[in-house]
Amino acid sequence: MTDTTTIAANLATIRARIAEACARANRPPASVTLVAVSKTNPQQAVLDALAAGQLVFGENRVQEADGKFPPLRAAHPALRLHIIGGLQTNKARDAVRVADVIETIDRPKLAAAIAEAMAKEARRPDCLVQVNTGAEPQKSGVARAEADAFIRAARDDHGLPVTGLMCIPPVEDDPRPHFAFLANLAARHGLAVVSMGMSADFEAAIAEGATLVRVGSAIFGARAPG
Ligand SMILES: *Cc1c(COP(=O)(O)O)cnc(C)c1O
Repeated sequence: MTDTTTIAANLATIRARIAEACARANRPPASVTLVAVSKTNPQQAVLDALAAGQLVFGENRVQEADGKFPPLRAAHPALRLHIIGGLQTNKARDAVRVADVIETIDRPKLAAAIAEAMAKEARRPDCLVQVNTGAEPQKSGVARAEADAFIRAARDDHGLPVTGLMCIPPVEDDPRPHFAFLANLAARHGLAVVSMGMSADFEAAIAEGATLVRVGSAIFGARAPG
């Protein structure tokens, strides 16, 4: 496990690299938000990151997020939790309750379930549409060809507060064309938020216009496989 000083040092390094990538792209450093992906790490790791000034976190499982984050909110009201993993419709209500941003809206059934959950919970987390830019069968996300129609439906038919798009390019591909595609799609729909880039490729994502980068292992250390 990664200790307190290491997490603080890793965060400082990542923030510096984000600032440098922004400078190279002629973008203000505040145009990129670091989402610290704490999945599989214990609550203590989140506390260590909070102590180092990190307020935005990402988790890919609702149940894990629910165990870790609600107890921290009282002491850290500015904390923001992003759900970044694929969602089953039966988790929609829990996701709406625990998240500030849901990054993985990707199909009509889920959009409907999230809209219904928002009404029941009287809570409206921001929503991102996940796009499966590499057409990978094992990955969540709407297909490229269906993205335009789905973004409109999520916003206009389901009434979701869609603020942006998210993607996870195939590991074996050059991510840059995927990032460029996503940024372009977001711009065409007037969406300000573009979530792309992880530990291995967040600088390339910033060069292509990312506004959220989701970084896990470079902050918290390598995760156990599986
Ligand atoms: C785990 C995960 C990340 C972080 O990945 P690292 O390579 O550890 O930085 C980012 N986005 C999603 C959707 C993830 O599941």
